Amino acid sequence: MTVSQDLVIKNAYLVDPIQNISGERVDLCISNGVIVPKVSERAMVIDVKGALTLAGGIDSHTHVCGAKVNVGRYMSPEDMRAGRTARQGIMYPTSGYTVPTTYGNSYRYSRMGYTTLLEGAMAPLKARHTHEEFAATPLQDMAANVLFDGNWNLFEAAEQQDYRQAAGLIAWMLRAVKGFAVKLTNPGGSEAWGFGDDIASLDESVPNWDVTPREIIDTAIKANEHLDLPHSVHLHCNNLGMPGNYTTTLETMDIPSDLNEKRQTLYMTHIQYHSYGGSTWRTFRSESLAIADAVNKRPHICVDMGQVMFGRTMTMTADGPMEFRLYTLHHNKWSNHDVELETGAGVIPVYYDRNNLVNSIMWAIGLELALSIKSPWQCMLTTDNPNGAPFVKYPEIIALLMSAGYRDEQIATVHKDLAKRAPLPTLERELSFDEIAVMTRAGQARALGIIDEGKGHLSEGAAADISIYPIWPELMDPSVEYEDIISGFSQTLYTVKDGVIVCKDGEVIQKNKNKTFWSDAKVPSAYAAEKNPRFIEIFERFYSVQFRNYAVQDEYVTRGYPLVRTGKWEEE
Ligand SMILES: [Zn+2]
Repeated sequence: MTVSQDLVIKNAYLVDPIQNISGERVDLCISNGVIVPKVSERAMVIDVKGALTLAGGIDSHTHVCGAKVNVGRYMSPEDMRAGRTARQGIMYPTSGYTVPTTYGNSYRYSRMGYTTLLEGAMAPLKARHTHEEFAATPLQDMAANVLFDGNWNLFEAAEQQDYRQAAGLIAWMLRAVKGFAVKLTNPGGSEAWGFGDDIASLDESVPNWDVTPREIIDTAIKANEHLDLPHSVHLHCNNLGMPGNYTTTLETMDIPSDLNEKRQTLYMTHIQYHSYGGSTWRTFRSESLAIADAVNKRPHICVDMGQVMFGRTMTMTADGPMEFRLYTLHHNKWSNHDVELETGAGVIPVYYDRNNLVNSIMWAIGLELALSIKSPWQCMLTTDNPNGAPFVKYPEIIALLMSAGYRDEQIATVHKDLAKRAPLPTLERELSFDEIAVMTRAGQARALGIIDEGKGHLSEGAAADISIYPIWPELMDPSVEYEDIISGFSQTLYTVKDGVIVCKDGEVIQKNKNKTFWSDAKVPSAYAAEKNPRFIEIFERFYSVQFRNYAVQDEYVTRGYPLVRTGKWEEE
């Protein structure tokens, strides 16, 4: 770890929603990697003259590390050629545009002011690979969602509606693979895909099991809250990408009750892909307003956008059957993978075309959701990178949300029938810097449960992860000067990580060593999965690996940062 010199950032125009600071000029003092009230006179001083200053950006759903990301890399040599950058200073060469190399991801995120990333989906059996790539994404602290959607042991617990047994399994698994949170992708669907099938409704049984997606989701949420994990269950709903799927999404929202006072009880990811009306691609339309209305009525649910932007990208998900359907539409390359008793994955490249009506409606839906969900704390800015678009498109999305004029300009370039199928042209809301700050860091910190780890805000004692943008809010109107919003959010003046300036004017100038957040949940021995003979028996009988070889060794996670939770066992 680089030892940081004391630092003062003078005249910062600070927007910090967690502290209720909405654009005040402040001087930020930094020592030993954290925000402090004052520093010695020897500190380095930078006067940023009213530049927009935010806590480091947090991406609460992105795919940057692990097995399926790597499949995306090696199945697209054309993409590897697209994003090449040469060695510069301490920066390694990079390649790839939609699925860059790990350093490519890390540098580009740092240039945009991002300092913390949640990998959206890690197959537990592939965890070593993910952690190796985390170590090579040095400018961001990392965490991983762990896939439980096809986990046979979770199915057993859900069949018996025994959330304590599920909690024991989840706690063991998160510890074994150094994972952060529980991810369910098309619950039950990836298991069904092993038999060439999918799950069509929340109440359809998984093949060979007496369990439904509804029961899997309900059991996982109860177990998650029983363990009191930092983050809630992170759900990719059933029927992703299907016309008419919004009814499944609405039904799913009724599963959880409000079980947590600090954060949401359910995080529904890339909600754009789950807000579709019509019954076929010909009758496809937006149902964003119905979804937004349901979110507005449920403060215990939060979502991320999964915004689609036009152009070429790569899709990758544990939702195997969905990727096969997408392949039958595109007839391009397709990769499909099954991960033993746990989950699966599919990868295909796509091109979102602004002349195509369906693609235009998809583009509109993400924006409609962000503009119609009243509280930005319930809606995070994402593209489900790289599924909807590579994350380098975030500045354009911010501009679209802050400027109705820019939206009108873009609407004029998409399919002419958009207005008949999507309400975007009628929406007038323009988001403020405060709202953008919530949707790109403060809201994520709350949703992930890492405010107490000093993330998402710049209070005294918080991590000195800071993004300073060449945007002067006192002197500009984002509604009109949207070009300056795009360029300003594309490249910081300074990105500070743990008190050290790691990126200046787009160039990474410091090596950094990141940490990996993982959840260490305590379980009484009666519920400890590793002491349950039935669990061990299933494991030894069906896995290709032996139980004793399964857990990720410490040398893969040398800078692990466990978040210890004692859960609610004592209250029983
Ligand atoms: Zn995703």
